[in-house]
Amino acid sequence: MKAVCWHGANDVRVDTVPDPQILNPRDAIIKITLTAICGSDLHLYDGYIPTMESGDILGHEFMGEVVELGSEVRNLKVGDRVVVPFTISCGNCFFCQRDLWSLCDNTNPNAWMAEKFYGHSPSGLFGYSHLLGGYAGGQAQYVRVPFADVGPLKIPDGLTDEQVLFLTDIFPTGYMAAENCKIQPGDTVAVWGCGPVGQFTIRSAFLLGAERVIAIDRFPERLALAKAANAEVLNYEEVDVGDALKEMTGGRGPDACVDAVGMEAHGTDFMAFYDKVKQAVRMETGRPTALREAIVACRKGGIVSVPGVYGGFVDKVPLGSIVNKALTLTSGQTHVHRYLRPLLEHIQNGDIDPTFIITHRLPLSEAPKGYEIFKHKKDNCIKVVLEP
Ligand code: NAD
Ligand code: ZN
Repeated sequence: MKAVCWHGANDVRVDTVPDPQILNPRDAIIKITLTAICGSDLHLYDGYIPTMESGDILGHEFMGEVVELGSEVRNLKVGDRVVVPFTISCGNCFFCQRDLWSLCDNTNPNAWMAEKFYGHSPSGLFGYSHLLGGYAGGQAQYVRVPFADVGPLKIPDGLTDEQVLFLTDIFPTGYMAAENCKIQPGDTVAVWGCGPVGQFTIRSAFLLGAERVIAIDRFPERLALAKAANAEVLNYEEVDVGDALKEMTGGRGPDACVDAVGMEAHGTDFMAFYDKVKQAVRMETGRPTALREAIVACRKGGIVSVPGVYGGFVDKVPLGSIVNKALTLTSGQTHVHRYLRPLLEHIQNGDIDPTFIITHRLPLSEAPKGYEIFKHKKDNCIKVVLEP
């Protein structure tokens, strides 16, 4: 089959690789009908995640048709159309039982490696390096889905692939980021980053009752899309974001702040980034500005919600600000399973049509072009979907 494979920083190729096979009784094989490139894939593309190997298959946002099932998967049938959460969860462990799916204890075969980085291991993820399980991803014609009796959600007829694809990640991610803000009537939520995750955060914040959303980015087309959802917008290249937020909130600051950026360092080369990491570890300089800004801007007693992805030690966080303003910092990879059904309902009710995010539709064979366009936000790109 054809699959999008990682071969190093800024080097992805569409290779011919062996078809996946059922390895365990709880596996399914899915024939991919639609997949997407995520901001999280850019961290791999940039070369910032050290446990990738040449030839690893990328992709964690995908859906398709069940073509083969292991003997213990009884909730699906061959021919079912499913979306698959990017997090892999067993459904039985301490964390899955507590609705904390992305913290599953049983789906990262390389947990020992993650424990060295983080203290404990999160769940395995599709297409997201050996540190997180080394699972082949879904930017491919076929994928093996482990624990298929737990993750995939069957999609009713009448909804297009494009309408439901983003249930795999970015819609639940934006929704959880907003939900973590514990929005009260009258609240103002500020969102750093108007990429796909930021866009879904903005819309989810309104769905959850925010009175105002202030969106921050530098790309006019992304700010325009935020504005179309009724957000007020700030271009961080044109204004001092901290001052502007103060002014817009009567000096008090937003009630909740969301960092939907993560370790954005696109445009720097790997060695420069590595030097920054080393400096940060030595507690000198080096800081992710969106997170710092979010923490400093947030009102006293407010919530800083971080769907943005960070690696190990790059994050010099202004802890003094967190302590002295009694902030709540909330984060995590998304508990996608928790949100699949309720968000599908929102789509079915017409509360939101996730297709608004798609700007580029390419065949899988043009994935390398898709990565370049998405990384550099060329051609007003917001989200790229790939069709095998
Ligand atoms: P993206 O790269 O398309 O968007 C990031 C946006 O942030 C860009 O528009 C960029 O211009 C903007 N930005 C950069 N620096 C900024 C700053 N200082 N202030 C304000 N805006 C700034 O990526 P995306 O697909 O929207 O993903 C965003 C983040 O969410 C990534 O870190 C990704 O890894 C993460 N993510 C997390 C989860 C999760 O489960 N927690 C799931 C999906 C994605
Ligand atoms: Zn993603």
